[in-house]
Amino acid sequence: MKDRFGREIDYIRVSVTDRCNFRCIYCMPEKGIAPKSSEDILRFEEIARFLKAIAPLGVSKVRITGGEPLVRKGIVDFVAMVRHIPEIQDIALTTNGSLLAELAADLKRAGLDRVNVSLDSLNPEKFRRMTRGGNLKSVIKGIEAALEHGLVPVKVNCVVIKGFNDDEVADFVKLAIDYPLTVRFIELMPIGESVREGMELVPQDHIARILGLKLEPVKYPEKGAGPAVYYKIPGGKGYVGFIAPITRHFCAYCNRIRLTSDGKLKVCLASEEEIDIKAPLRGGASVEELQRIFVNALMKKPEGHRMNVVPFRKTKRTMCQIGG
Ligand code: SAM
Ligand code: SF4
Repeated sequence: MKDRFGREIDYIRVSVTDRCNFRCIYCMPEKGIAPKSSEDILRFEEIARFLKAIAPLGVSKVRITGGEPLVRKGIVDFVAMVRHIPEIQDIALTTNGSLLAELAADLKRAGLDRVNVSLDSLNPEKFRRMTRGGNLKSVIKGIEAALEHGLVPVKVNCVVIKGFNDDEVADFVKLAIDYPLTVRFIELMPIGESVREGMELVPQDHIARILGLKLEPVKYPEKGAGPAVYYKIPGGKGYVGFIAPITRHFCAYCNRIRLTSDGKLKVCLASEEEIDIKAPLRGGASVEELQRIFVNALMKKPEGHRMNVVPFRKTKRTMCQIGG
């Protein structure tokens, strides 16, 4: 299914909760966000019904996110529901990794293909500060469990923030040398808490300079290359990647749409445009009606975001309410 700008939209990011057991400084306010009642949140059966309706339109990749998706009860059964949709070829999950050690085996059995684990510091004390209470060891165990149970490729996503963790980029690269992990550095986006806290991104070129990377980018051989540029460090077991939504603007290749946990389609991460699917789902909309809503939403997808032009502005939702 193509949008107005000829982009093939084959990927949906589904946020299943906006709750989280961490409070990352750039994502969640210290006190958390006002919890939504369970009535406001789409039931797993409702999400699955929607995915089943739109999959024949060409949506073949699903990423489950949050908030922290692994804190929602029934998440393993939800993965199995998605796995039963024949057109869905790739199911991935983005997690903070803290509960992955206990759930990795069940998630794999239910049909999950792979995970991305968000990890912004390798120093236990700094990690605790950046997540406001997280335990680094539990995340490392989660990454180990993901590798052990074949939720691969395992990608480790690190949002680099000036003055917080930009001194650790070389340590992260070492992870990709020593382990079969894909470590990706992500530019901080001016959404929600990062704006309120006045945090600064570290541009991709700057990180590459710190690392003295003179390598040529390589083609990523695994599933889910996404908008990143990848490098292989000689002798290393994994890959290093960069995702630069601000300095490298990849909107021309954007293939995704987002669904929030309260049932709104978001056609662009940076846009306030939201299309409700909860009311139609609960009102008994047919497959054709759901498809029509989806196609109309796609037609509202803008050509690109303007985060690099208008960097500081208030957004209705913080990132934990969108799903990244
Ligand atoms: N809780 C899960 C996790 O942390 O992986 C899933 C949800 S979290 C909102 C998804 C991703 O968004 C995380 O990798 C997080 O680092 C990233 N994120 C949150 N706020 C961001 C921002 N302002 N700029 C860039 N990435 C951000
Ligand atoms: Fe939670 Fe993920 Fe946001 Fe951190 S980045 S507060 S783990 S939703």
